[in-house]
Amino acid sequence: MDHVVYLDHAATTKIDEKVLEEMLPYLENYYGNASSLYKLGKDSRKAVENARSQVASVINCKPSEVYFTSCGSESDNLAIKGIAKANKNFGKHIITSNIEHPAVLKTCKTLEREGFRISYVPAKENGIIDIESLKKSIRSDTVLISIMAANNEVGTIQPIEEIGRIARNNNIFFHTDCVQAIGNMDIDVKKMNIDALSMSGHKFYAPKGIGVLYVRNGIRFERQQDGGHQEKEKRAGTENVASIVGLGKAIELIDKNRMQYTNHLRTLRNMYVENVINLFPNAHVNGDLANRLAGNMNISFLDYKGAHLVEELDKRGIYVSSGSACSAGLPMPSSVLMNMTHNLKIAESSLRVTFGKENTMDEVEYLIYSLNDIMKK
Ligand code: PLP
Repeated sequence: MDHVVYLDHAATTKIDEKVLEEMLPYLENYYGNASSLYKLGKDSRKAVENARSQVASVINCKPSEVYFTSCGSESDNLAIKGIAKANKNFGKHIITSNIEHPAVLKTCKTLEREGFRISYVPAKENGIIDIESLKKSIRSDTVLISIMAANNEVGTIQPIEEIGRIARNNNIFFHTDCVQAIGNMDIDVKKMNIDALSMSGHKFYAPKGIGVLYVRNGIRFERQQDGGHQEKEKRAGTENVASIVGLGKAIELIDKNRMQYTNHLRTLRNMYVENVINLFPNAHVNGDLANRLAGNMNISFLDYKGAHLVEELDKRGIYVSSGSACSAGLPMPSSVLMNMTHNLKIAESSLRVTFGKENTMDEVEYLIYSLNDIMKK
């Protein structure tokens, strides 16, 4: 493959070599079903339980509170439906925000059709949700709050520790979508009063198709998939051992190197944004500059369509995004930016650049040069 400049790490990441190395034996020789009782099965079980401990130690929970799923979307579905349905006798009201990922928003819509009521807390123009509005949304029948730790499009970090405190003080369960947050910020489920959390391996250099749901022990929970007894009855299906091993290794690595990793991303991001602001008067930075993921920069170039810039950069070997990957290809402005800014021009002209561990300053320079080239033409 020719050299490409990959700047879309919020969409997905390339598998880490050390992660792949760790997985290979489980794709070749250790192929036993983790539920089988003979040695080959027990070897797989041991590897799955080791990965469970690796995840647990990063988010400060017990291994028995970690469940493997197929992706972040499944974890979001399972957390929200599993908790809401099992606890509906306590109330059928859920609070979320209007900038969540579709895996949360559409799950809430489905529950709405089943008789639940949903309050959508608005995000402010800076991409941070309005806490006062969240507090006012709480009702006597509120059973669950689901607010993401960090937004996938603009990278803004939500005050989840404060939300966790509010939820706990009001006896409401708290789920947080940490798909973009893991590896980029400190997540401690005990300190943050988190009852359920979603993550997805492919956002932190593990393979695609593997996710985690953390659910605090003791919470009433309804499984959403019928089948075998796997994952303590919460998620039926033969465990994807190799990918689970990969996710365990990936989270261990990213956590160990988090400071160095986020410092690297921040350096690249700052270099990018400073240059853009100096060079392009039409640039509008989306989302709070201080409370955001180190590697995320979302900028609207007001006289251009984001999709056009993505296409032009692609011709120059640079991969970026004009919104979230799931909305790419759809001729719709970003609903996250619309909800934040209420400005169609901003929403249609956004370019999301998300840095990763292999990016270099030379690549940022090439991105700036290419943007300049496109705009001149
Ligand atoms: N939640 C957020 C915030 C995301 O960014 C994504 C994916 O981009 C998901 C959920 C869905 O994760 P997955 O792609 O593993 O289904």
